[in-house]
Amino acid sequence: MPMMLPTVLRNLLDGPATRLYPIQVRESFQNARGHVVFNDDKCTLCSVCALRCPADAISIDKENKTLSFHPARCIVCEVCVLGCPSDAIDLIYKWRPPFSRKPVEVHEARGKKPRTPM
Ligand code: SF4
Ligand code: SF4
Repeated sequence: MPMMLPTVLRNLLDGPATRLYPIQVRESFQNARGHVVFNDDKCTLCSVCALRCPADAISIDKENKTLSFHPARCIVCEVCVLGCPSDAIDLIYKWRPPFSRKPVEVHEARGKKPRTPM
């Protein structure tokens, strides 16, 4: 017991080692894997991200020119960001706010396909 006294005193003086979440929210930091965001003006609906996503979080509807993203499925692996040929996806370091229902983001793609050389 006497051997534990310094640790007990230190813990009493330092306060708790955990945060009172959600009252105290930890700020996200640079280079953290926050969440992916899509740039609709650049997306050409090429489907590369949907084909490569290991979590099936992206689907493409070419008829309606939309890209659907399921944030609750995304594991923030960055595969889509690195694979997008139009640079239309970014990984930002801020964490997505929690959600109670599984949302679906529907993006209207407005990017133009590059012209193929003749
Ligand atoms: S986000 Fe990029 S990879 Fe995904 S469909 Fe659009 S252009 Fe293609
Ligand atoms: S970060 Fe990974 S899991 Fe999330 S949408 Fe992109 S490829 Fe899919």
